[in-house]
Amino acid sequence: MSTIVIDQITNSLPTFLKENEFSKIGVLVDEHTKAFCLPIVTDLLPTHDLIIIQSGEVNKTIHTCQFIWRKLTEKAFDRKSLLINLGGGVIGDMGGFCAASFKRGISFINIPTTLLSSVDASVGGKLGIDFNGFKNHIGFFKEPDAVLIDPIFLETLPSKELRSGFAEVIKHGLIADEDYYEQIIKDGMNQPNWNAVIAHSVHIKSEVVKKDPFEEGLRKVLNFGHTIGHALESHYLSTEHHLLHGEAIAIGMICEAFLSKKLTGLSEIELKNITANLIGIYGKSKINKNDLPAIIKRMYHDKKNSHNLLNHSLIKKVGEAIYDIAVDEKDVMDALFYYEQLN
Ligand code: NAD
Repeated sequence: MSTIVIDQITNSLPTFLKENEFSKIGVLVDEHTKAFCLPIVTDLLPTHDLIIIQSGEVNKTIHTCQFIWRKLTEKAFDRKSLLINLGGGVIGDMGGFCAASFKRGISFINIPTTLLSSVDASVGGKLGIDFNGFKNHIGFFKEPDAVLIDPIFLETLPSKELRSGFAEVIKHGLIADEDYYEQIIKDGMNQPNWNAVIAHSVHIKSEVVKKDPFEEGLRKVLNFGHTIGHALESHYLSTEHHLLHGEAIAIGMICEAFLSKKLTGLSEIELKNITANLIGIYGKSKINKNDLPAIIKRMYHDKKNSHNLLNHSLIKKVGEAIYDIAVDEKDVMDALFYYEQLN
């Protein structure tokens, strides 16, 4: 796995640059990370080219990749160049994808600037873009040269985005660590120590990725909440009911906790507790009943499926996950109805 450093960026970035030699350096930002995060690192960087893209999941597309590849070409980036992805999960997934495919691969590092990318997206080498309305449909695995995490970037992050990232933190507790789940739920969005939360979540994710880097088995547990969550996120992406990634995953986790009760032994009390906690943090989103068939249809494109079965990663109890559970369409529909009738 790549080196993951959780430290002040004023220490970690100069150290990384001192230890490695690059012919050229590019920094990929969106308009928000240019305004709020670039000033924190500018003085730490040698001469570099800035590549600015439009923020948002709607821009995680091949069109934006073409823009990035064109910039790298115009600026004559060679195989010894470095791309620094300074941003959230969209910048990390797409910048990594562009770097790892440009001239068959140049170096790249992630400097995550959202909670979601600090605890999850920047770690583990999943790169990719959305395509034809399907999440992360085109992509591959390639580890960044380094991940440099500094919670200082969270200071300018809108609270809605912090809350979105918190869904992946909750997921880490639900799939791997009951005590952690209880602790982070107790403090909610007012965590006294985000550094400790980031460190523990990164530890949980890294341990899983180390054992199964290419998601042939165990790594699928990290997808708890994501089969239904991704389908909802992509379904509503271009609508006025647009959901942030973590918001969609929170709904996905409620629905998949329902499936876990039905299929893998989660208790009624645990289901109620998870439902109440997630609704308490994320509120209740409106899902139109008429949209359900189209949402389910999207799930057939989920990357965990095979042989036309809807495979889910579920939990047996809080803190213990299980993967490759084939679920009937009817049960998925019931799970979405379960969410839909909540207050
Ligand atoms: P994002 O990258 O869209 O960032 C959210 C918003 O916050 C953007 O508008 C961005 O410009 C802004 N922003 C970023 N940092 C900021 C800062 N410090 N201050 C102010 N504004 C800032 O969203 P995200 O939640 O970071 O990532 C979501 C993406 O991550 C999704 O595409 C999802 O599929 C992907 N993801 C990938 C993995 C993986 O393993 N590769 C895991 C989970 C999620």
